[in-house]
Amino acid sequence: MIKIDHLVKNYGANCAVDDISFEIAPGEIVGFLGPNGAGKSTTMNILTGYLSSTSGRVMVDGLNVLDAPLEVKRRIGYLPEQPPLYPDMTVEEYLIFVYNLKGCTLNRTKHLQEICEVVKLTDVKGRLIRNLSKGYKQRVGIAQALVGNPPVIIFDEPTVGLDPKQIIEIRNLIRNLGKDHTVILSTHILQEVQAVCDRIIIINKGRVVADELTENINRVAANSFRYQVKICGPQKEVLSMLKNRPDVVYAEVMAARDGDAYIYQVESNRGVDIRKSLFYAVAERGWAMVGLEPLGMSLEDIFISVVDKTSADAAERGAKGGKKPRGKSLEKDIAQSILDATAEKQESIAPYAGDED
Ligand code: ADP
Ligand code: MG
Repeated sequence: MIKIDHLVKNYGANCAVDDISFEIAPGEIVGFLGPNGAGKSTTMNILTGYLSSTSGRVMVDGLNVLDAPLEVKRRIGYLPEQPPLYPDMTVEEYLIFVYNLKGCTLNRTKHLQEICEVVKLTDVKGRLIRNLSKGYKQRVGIAQALVGNPPVIIFDEPTVGLDPKQIIEIRNLIRNLGKDHTVILSTHILQEVQAVCDRIIIINKGRVVADELTENINRVAANSFRYQVKICGPQKEVLSMLKNRPDVVYAEVMAARDGDAYIYQVESNRGVDIRKSLFYAVAERGWAMVGLEPLGMSLEDIFISVVDKTSADAAERGAKGGKKPRGKSLEKDIAQSILDATAEKQESIAPYAGDED
């Protein structure tokens, strides 16, 4: 449905989008994830035809954005970072205005009614936009994107500035839209893409640094090789036993205790289930294991690691120090493998030469 080919956008000497390529299939919900200034809005503005690119090609539904800007705009509903609302209009007046602007041919009353129902605006249709809360204004922004029933919907940071309840409502709404639309949304919030998107494209410094299905990322993150173990026994000896095991890559004792048991965090070699053998090793020495539970990996850390590994400000972030005690950092390994896989994928996308299609 969408094909972006070696897209570049320079603002003077500043390269906002630096050779981005990806494809999005019909019906996918894709999240652009990346820190502020990564190039998300710029990419979306080019995709929607609101901004020209320096080089590269953007195709929507087989149409080149440059050759057929109007045709492309007709296929895309866009909610920019700052929705173009007119505060002195009522919701209804504004939607009629957008309907006319888009040259929409669907039955007006029915179409706008349906949209208002989908985004839950029916009750405030007659109110001036200026008097609506931020959450409702955002819904009006979403409503205008839906006018004309475009197959592709693009939302730039749709939940910024909303309260937690509104955020959940908007996320549900987007997920529902995803059932019969191709959706791209941008966000700097990891949980947002995780909650809503089938696929995550991480953009940093104008480049695609990761492109992976959400379920794949969730699956690796759920694979636990890190455990919290509670053992009654002499702390020093227990720790040294843990550290000396060939299948353990990292072990440390935590500050908290549980009765007379010390609590340890243990990280095993990847793919090794240490639970049974650890149980016997502890029992053999006459100690008691009174607790053993897997600790999942932090998706947040994987994300930060992906961004750090592709940023110059990694050192700065490192200096601030991690909040949680961590082992050899599986998250970093996973971040690296996501980066490697993506780099491979990106390399296999050949630059297009002329208009072959
Ligand atoms: P994001 O949406 O990911 O936060 P943007 O696409 O807005 O990032 O910005 C990417 C980079 O391009 C930033 O460094 C930003 O400062 C720069 N930039 C964006 N718009 C302009 C502009 N109109 N003129 C100059 N630089 C810009
Ligand atoms: Mg932005």
